[in-house]
Amino acid sequence: MSPTHFHVKSLAGKIFSSVLVFAFAIVLVFGVAMTSIYYYSYEREGEAKLSALAHEAADYLNATPSSENVPALQEQFAGLVRYTLIAEDGEVLFDSAADESTMENHGLRPEVAQAEAEGSSAVARYSETLKTDTIYAAVKLDDGSIVRLSETRESLFSFLGSMLVPILVALAVVAVLVFLLSKTLTRRIMKPIDALNFADPLENEIYEEMDPLLERIDEQQKLLKQQNKELALAENMRRDFSSNVSHEMKTPLQVISGYAELMKNDMVQPADRQKFAALIYEEAQAMRSLINDVLTLSRLDETVCDPETAVLVDVRAVGERVVGRLGSFAAEHGVDVQVEGVRACIAGSETLVEEMLYNLVENAIRYNHEGGQVRLSLAVEGGAPAPGAAGGDAARAAGARGASAADGAGAAGAPGSAGAGAAPGTAGEVVVRVSDTGAGIPADMRDKVFERFFRVDKSRSKETGGTGLGLAIVKHAVIYHKGTIEVESEEGVGTTFVVHLPAAS
Ligand code: ADP
Repeated sequence: MSPTHFHVKSLAGKIFSSVLVFAFAIVLVFGVAMTSIYYYSYEREGEAKLSALAHEAADYLNATPSSENVPALQEQFAGLVRYTLIAEDGEVLFDSAADESTMENHGLRPEVAQAEAEGSSAVARYSETLKTDTIYAAVKLDDGSIVRLSETRESLFSFLGSMLVPILVALAVVAVLVFLLSKTLTRRIMKPIDALNFADPLENEIYEEMDPLLERIDEQQKLLKQQNKELALAENMRRDFSSNVSHEMKTPLQVISGYAELMKNDMVQPADRQKFAALIYEEAQAMRSLINDVLTLSRLDETVCDPETAVLVDVRAVGERVVGRLGSFAAEHGVDVQVEGVRACIAGSETLVEEMLYNLVENAIRYNHEGGQVRLSLAVEGGAPAPGAAGGDAARAAGARGASAADGAGAAGAPGSAGAGAAPGTAGEVVVRVSDTGAGIPADMRDKVFERFFRVDKSRSKETGGTGLGLAIVKHAVIYHKGTIEVESEEGVGTTFVVHLPAAS
C-alpha cells in the first residue's frame, strides 16, 4: 500500500472514508447551526440598536414642530438609515429610500400597526418595497404620526452563502486531518497485528475482537501439527518398511549370488550341482513370495471395499479352493486340513478373501506339528430377516443384493454391533475360524503378529517360506471388508484366528 493511495480494500481507506463522511456531516451540521444562531442573535441586536435609535429620533421629533419633522430626520439620519414618516391613517408622508407618492398605505404594515397600538415596535421582515430582509423600528409620535427607521439585512440564506467559503475551507482542512488520522490510526491498529506471534496464537495479548480469529488460527495450527505428526509417522513407517523389504531381500540374494558364483567358477562337484540349484531355486521362490506380498500390501494400503465394485463372495467355496491349493503343502508337513460349517456369503473382493484364507490356513499348517490338524469353519451369526421378506421375493432379492449387501457391511462394520442387537433386515456376520494344533502364540505377541515383518520364531518362518507379511495382508483384507479379526491361542495347544465379516443379505 503506497502512502498516498488508498486501495479499495485497504484499512486506511476504510477508516478514511467512514471518518470523512462522519466528520463532513459534523462540520456541515455545526456550520449551519452556528451560523443560524449567530445570524439570529445578530439580528436581535440590530433590532435593539435600531429601536433605541428610533426612540431617540421620536424624542427629538416630539420636541420639534410637526412641519419640521422631515428636515429634522434628514439632518439626523441622511445616509445612515432609511427613515419613513407615516401619518396616523397609514399614508406615507415621507420615505428616504422611495418616492412616497407611489407607496401604498402602510397602516397595515406589522411594525406600523404594532407601533400604532403599543407606541413602539421592532420587527424583522421582508420588505416588499426594497425586496430584501429588513429590520424595522417604529415609534408613535405625540401628534399620532409614526416615525420608522429601517435597515436592510442579509437574509439567512445569503448570510449562509457568505459562509460557504469558510465552510468549504473547513471541510478541506477536515479532509486533510482525517486523511492523516486514518494513516496514523491504521499504523497504530496494524502495529500489534504485524507483530503477532503465529507460532503461539493464544499467547498474543491484542484486541479482544481478534480472539475468535486467534482461536481459529490456533485450532488450524493444532490440526496442522497433528497432520504433520501423522505424515511423519506414515513416512517413518514407509521408510521402515522399505528398509525391512531391502533387508529381507538381501539374504536370499546373497545366497543366490554366492551359490551361483561357486557354480560359475566350476567349484561345485557335479554330485552337488542339483543340491545347489535347489537352494538357489528356493531362495528365488522366497524372493518371489516376498515381492508378491509387498505388492499385495501396497495395493491394499488404506483401501476399503467400494460397494459399487463389490461382488458376492461365497466364503465356503473360496475356503475349499484354498485348502485344495494348499493340499501338497499340508501333506509335506503331515497336517490334516478340514473345511466345515455353512455356506456363507459376503460382499467384497473374492481375490482378497482367497488371499486372506490362504495366509491363515498356510500359517496354521506352517506353525503346526507333524500329525497336527487344521480346521477352517464357517458360521453366520446374528442378523434378522427384513420384515415381510420371509416369503422370498426372488426378483427383489436378486435385484437388491448388491445394495443391501453394502448396507449390511456398513451396519455391521463396528465389532460387536451385529449379533443380538442387530436391526431387522441386517444380514448378521459371517464368522470364519481357522484353528490349528500348533505351538500357539505367546500372549504378549498376539497383537504384534499382525505387524509387518513380525515373526515369533524367525528361523521357523523363513525355513517354511514365510515372508513376515502374511498376517499384515490378512489384517488389511479384513479391514477392506469392514470386518474384525482376533487371535485365541494357548501355548502348546493351538491357535485360532477368528474373522468377523459383515454378511451379504
Ligand atoms: P510369516 O510369513 O512369518 O508366517 P505372518 O505375518 O503370516 O508371517 O505371521 C507372523 C508371525 O506370527 C509368524 O512368523 C508366526 O511367528 C506367527 N504366527 C502366525 N500364524 C501362526 C499360527 N497359526 N500359529 C503360531 N504362530 C503363528
